[in-house]
Formats: sequence, C-alpha cells, structure tokens
Amino acid sequence: FDAHFGPYYGNGWKQRGVIIVLHDITDIKRLENMRSDFVANVSHELKTPVTSLKGFSETLLSGEVTDEETARSFLQIIHDESERIDRLIRDLLHLSHIENKVSPLNIGEVALVRLTHGITHTLSKAISDKGLEIILPPPAEEVFIEGDQDRLNQILTNLIANAITYTGEGGKIDISIEETPFDVRISVSDTGIGIPAENIPRVFERFYRVDKARSRNSGGTGLGLAIVKHLVESHKGKIELTSVEGEGTTFTVILPISQ
Ligand code: ADP
Repeated sequence: FDAHFGPYYGNGWKQRGVIIVLHDITDIKRLENMRSDFVANVSHELKTPVTSLKGFSETLLSGEVTDEETARSFLQIIHDESERIDRLIRDLLHLSHIENKVSPLNIGEVALVRLTHGITHTLSKAISDKGLEIILPPPAEEVFIEGDQDRLNQILTNLIANAITYTGEGGKIDISIEETPFDVRISVSDTGIGIPAENIPRVFERFYRVDKARSRNSGGTGLGLAIVKHLVESHKGKIELTSVEGEGTTFTVILPISQ
C-alpha cells in the first residue's frame, strides 16, 4: 500500500484529525516488476551472444590464430551468434508489435488444412533429419476459418517447430483439425520429452524455458509461445496445453469460427 497522511483542518477549525488515504498499488508494483524483469531478461539474453562475439573477434584480430581451420570455426561461431541476436531482436519487435496492436488483423478466409500442409512442407528438412513421422489432416476435408493468414501461419509454425525440436528421433507429430458449430480446434501433438507438471503454467511467459541449454542449442529465443498466445488471443481464441513428462505434449488452439 501507498499511504498519504495529512492533517485535516475542517471549516477553518484547528486540527481535529488525520485523513489517511490508502491506494492499492499492488497492480502498479506488479507491472513495474514485470517491466524490470523483462529488461533484465532481454539484457541477459543479449549479453551472452555479445560476449562471445567480442571474445572471438578480439582473438581473431589479435593475430594469434594462425591456422585457417581454427579461424574458420571462430568465424562460424561469430556468424551463429549474430544470427541468434538477429532472431531475438526480430522476436522482440514482433512481440511488441502485437502487444501494442500496431497492425490490425488482416481478416480473410483461411484454409487451415492447406496451411498445415504448407508449413510442414517448409519444415520438411528438419522433420526428415530427425526421422519423424508426421500425421496431417486429409486435404479432402478442408476447414475454413475467418482469420489473419500470416498470423495463423506464425501460430502453427511456432507450435510445429517446437514439436520437432522437443521430440526425439523417430518420434511422431500428429496435427488434427476439428470443427464444432462454434469453434475450430487445431491440435499439435508430439511424442517428445514432455513438460513437467510444475512448469506447464509458465511456458507461455516470455523467456521461460524448461531447459535453457536445450532451447539455446536448438536456436530458441524463449519468446515463441508468448508470441503464439498473443496471436491466438488477438483472434479471440485460446490455447490449451496438456503434457506428460517423457511421453509427449499436445497444444490445442481453439478459435471462434467467425471473427
Ligand atoms: P523456445 O524458443 O525455448 O522453444 P518457446 O516460447 O517456444 O521458446 O517455448 C518455451 C519452452 O516451452 C521451451 O523452452 C520448452 O521448454 C517448452 N516447450 C515448448 N514446446 C514444447 C514441446 N512441444 N514439448 C516440450 N517442451 C516444449
């Protein structure tokens, strides 16, 4: 609480009492904390790759590295870390665009089955590199929805890319689309590592990762699901998650039929 104390001089009489005004500032405080946590997180996420850019470029500039193979491996690290920073900045800008509602939804008719086929085609190299089996809704049973094609693409790309990342070799990803009279439910299920029950409520937070090292190694920024949640909510939908550690995870996006 934030309390203001002050003397009270009613009707020009001498001081008779004190008025205490209590403001509940819990929400303001929470917002402030969230903001400073966010800045701390962003700084930390940037600091790690920048430290390595600095270190490896300084070593190269010092002329100490004489063999070409080592020099190339250092350059590769510099390149990969620059890409990480690039991805991070792109995701941050994207998130802030969505949060500030900079661009309105570009609503049109979206063919969801075709969309999922297109996305898995784009991700086909990652899928086949891991020998994953992928099950898709049949093209003959197209499901249409009113929505923003690019944003729906982003939602499903993030979920399917995560399913690929967090599923071991030879696993299975099952994408299904179900229509009810009111909404459409798109599920992305995997037979991957799963999410421990205690971590489930936090995975939609920015930068929250169950396993930081695994996420970093796969190029993750920790912002994917925060972006997905915002995009789903901007479509007046919701996202649900069930997961069993060691068995797999299912994300279900529920979208109202008409926007
Ligand atoms: P990241 O870039 O780390 O993948 P996300 O916001 O997309 O960030 O996901 C947050 C965290 O949720 C991940 O780091 C991972 O721990 C967990 N996660 C997301 N999708 C899955 C999944 N399909 N299976 C297991 N864990 C997942």
